[in-house]
Amino acid sequence: MGITGGNMIIAETGTLALFENEGNIRMSTSLPRVHVALIGIEKVIETWDDFGVLMPLLSRSAAGQKMPTYLSLITGPKRSGERDGPEAFHLILLDNGRSAVLGDTVLRESLFCLRCGACLNVCPVYKRIGGHSYGWVYSGPIGILLDSELLPAGSARDLAFACTLCGACAEVCPVMIEHPKMILDFRRRLAEDPSWNGRETLSRTFPMRLHSWLAVRPALFRFAGFVARCLQAVAAPSGEWRWLPGTLAAWGTRRKIPRFMRPFSSRWKSLKLNKR
Ligand code: SF4
Repeated sequence: MGITGGNMIIAETGTLALFENEGNIRMSTSLPRVHVALIGIEKVIETWDDFGVLMPLLSRSAAGQKMPTYLSLITGPKRSGERDGPEAFHLILLDNGRSAVLGDTVLRESLFCLRCGACLNVCPVYKRIGGHSYGWVYSGPIGILLDSELLPAGSARDLAFACTLCGACAEVCPVMIEHPKMILDFRRRLAEDPSWNGRETLSRTFPMRLHSWLAVRPALFRFAGFVARCLQAVAAPSGEWRWLPGTLAAWGTRRKIPRFMRPFSSRWKSLKLNKR
């Protein structure tokens, strides 16, 4: 039995569309006697005209191609006289919380996602922490939303607060999903959720409060940066931190700890002076 997912289903003819660049999906769909395709209900599109728009959108945003190297369009098992293909074809349409998301006036937009991955490639947080930190198959900006919607409540809490709301994801998204707007709304819901408020700890709130206090006091902010760079010169002379104290230690176990740099304002000033 060959098992696949699916990129789209064209409702007009009941055709399953599979996009790939390697050919391994095509092997799973043609060699075994049975093909089972498991696909989320949000991947059903209405017509071939829709497919004509979405196919190049997905290919371009995912891999810069006009179309995938292998595009399989499957409408049932092999017919009499055909040499390749399974004898039986089963399509499983998965809801798993998607209908509930569809009823949510703000978060429903996330169901438009084509899974091209463009938003991951531009996300500064994803680039820093990597896909495994999201703990599930969906990562990056769209992962924050899908994980929060499709996994048990609260699964993406920390990830929602890791987002910088820079908006790069929304700029590149081919289906114009506004991730920051939805992530902000998700944060609002968490803030209003009594079970989440109860779990807020000092280690979570203190650094953010300290940062917001410093951020509106430029002289103190610059001084704090100076102190941090002095500490770095002593504790990590090469600029590479090997460990951090207390609860921060976990950050250094799997990834590089960012180094404190000269502030942008001072680099900008010297750039302008050099130009003169
Ligand atoms: S949210 Fe947009 S950019 Fe991100 S994977 Fe989905 S379609 Fe691509």
